[in-house]
Amino acid sequence: MTQREFVSAYIGLGANLGDARQAIFDAVNALKQLPLTQVRDCSSLYRSEPVAAKGPDFFNAVVHLQTQLNPIDLLRACQQIENRAGRERPYPNAPRTLDLDVLLFGTASVQSSELCVPHPRMRERAFVLLPLHELAPHLVQEADLLKVKGQAIQNSSDKN
Ligand code: ADP
Ligand code: MG
Repeated sequence: MTQREFVSAYIGLGANLGDARQAIFDAVNALKQLPLTQVRDCSSLYRSEPVAAKGPDFFNAVVHLQTQLNPIDLLRACQQIENRAGRERPYPNAPRTLDLDVLLFGTASVQSSELCVPHPRMRERAFVLLPLHELAPHLVQEADLLKVKGQAIQNSSDKN
């Protein structure tokens, strides 16, 4: 059997219900347990005001993985982690105990009803662009960073 290559993927993490800061740390640990996957790096923790939604502030981070999973299996594994964290979806953009979005999967472009990669809204969101820029500046355009400059976000990374 041919060994599948490792691909660099970036996961965006967000939470704003319950102990949201702890939920992000737990999610990073859960990502470390995924099969065929290694966590390479994790950004600082950020705190941001909800975009296009109401509710408590979010905690956010971005994780860099190397994975041999295919994109759909990676998405489904992320959804299992969300579900174990008690994720519910009462309405679009509802507050959430944990949200894991597949931001980038190597250079792949995926457009299906279940998965769109690169994530279609990632370039509009400071809470994605700032932590992603911290890990991989070459993946973020300065013009996009300028566009999100008005969004309320702070680095909250005493990491405790
Ligand atoms: P949100 O857009 O607020 O993150 P959800 O987390 O509830 O909303 O995701 C809604 C749907 O988005 C999921 O059922 C999933 O199939 C789909 N989806 C499409 N592309 C992606 C992606 N790149 N990462 C995560 N979910 C995605
Ligand atoms: Mg999501």
